[in-house]
Amino acid sequence: MTQVLLPRALDELWDFLEEDPNTAVYSGGTDLLVNLRGGRINPSRLACLERIEEIRGVRDAGAAVFIGAATTHTHLLENSLVSSEFPVLTKAIRVLASPAIRNMGTIGGNIVNASPAGDTLPPLYALDAEVEIVSRKEAKRMPVSDFIVGPGRVRLGANEIVKGVWIRKAPEFNVRHFEKVGLRKSQACAVASLAAALSLSEGGKIERARLAWGSVGPTVVRSAEVEEALLGRELEIQMLAEVARLVERAVSPIDDVRASAQYRRIVAGRLLLRLAESGCKN
Ligand SMILES: Cc1cc2nc3c(=O)[nH]c(=O)nc-3n(C[C@H](O)[C@H](O)[C@H](O)COP(=O)(O)OP(=O)(O)OC[C@H]3O[C@@H](n4cnc5c(N)ncnc54)[C@H](O)[C@@H]3O)c2cc1C
Repeated sequence: MTQVLLPRALDELWDFLEEDPNTAVYSGGTDLLVNLRGGRINPSRLACLERIEEIRGVRDAGAAVFIGAATTHTHLLENSLVSSEFPVLTKAIRVLASPAIRNMGTIGGNIVNASPAGDTLPPLYALDAEVEIVSRKEAKRMPVSDFIVGPGRVRLGANEIVKGVWIRKAPEFNVRHFEKVGLRKSQACAVASLAAALSLSEGGKIERARLAWGSVGPTVVRSAEVEEALLGRELEIQMLAEVARLVERAVSPIDDVRASAQYRRIVAGRLLLRLAESGCKN
């Protein structure tokens, strides 16, 4: 049986990690325990992060919001600061797994797991979020798009953990949209997903656009070409259908048990069309 350690502060965690470098950290365990039981990882012991207050909860830091890595998805769904400032993130979490998994799973676990289908990732990319990484000696920040380097691969050194994620408030975005296409309504792994944050002028022209697709590449896909193609245009279906062709070229999906690469490519483009309905801002 694997020993489970329950540090209550970061200082205690650093002691545990330094005592035995083969100690794996986890929060909700909804990814880690699956990998452990499947024999894909073999840590000598586990350190659970959920009792460390410093890395839990949501904090208003003025121009930005800090979300602790060990904050559960359920907590984020119920947080009014998150839903008012970042509705695109709330919309994504609402369709992440099921209530039981959302009660256990955390945003930090979703980020470090680095699945291209991770539901919080497209919103975090579209919001230009930054990941805060800490060790006993150092704290540093980097864009989530630099932190994640491939499926399941992140820039995290020995004895470092993710402390949390920083998201700048961006009230100028008045259209915030998330949609996930899966093989069923609930507890569905994304076949393709899109997070979008747009600013529409009074006259209905797109002034700023940030778009991020999940499950259509080794990591979340953003495309400067697609974002630029939207600028100065009105949010109407014909224009979106035109730009959807660029999306099909920008993504690089693979065939897997859930869908073919070609199907994913088409869906990624079609997801853009839904933005026409989002002309009603939210
Ligand atoms: C039945 C089921 C359905 C699911 N459905 C979905 C879904 O629809 N959408 C989706 O996105 N995901 C889904 N998942 C995956 C999972 O629930 C999420 O990725 C969740 O956010 C993981 O969080 P966690 O706290 O449980 O991670 P953990 O399992 O605790 O950790 C995951 C990984 O991150 C590392 N880690 C965790 N926290 C930190 C930290 N602070 N610093 C450094 N490393 C850390 C761990 O070492 C581990 O490698 C599902 C899982 C299950 C079992």
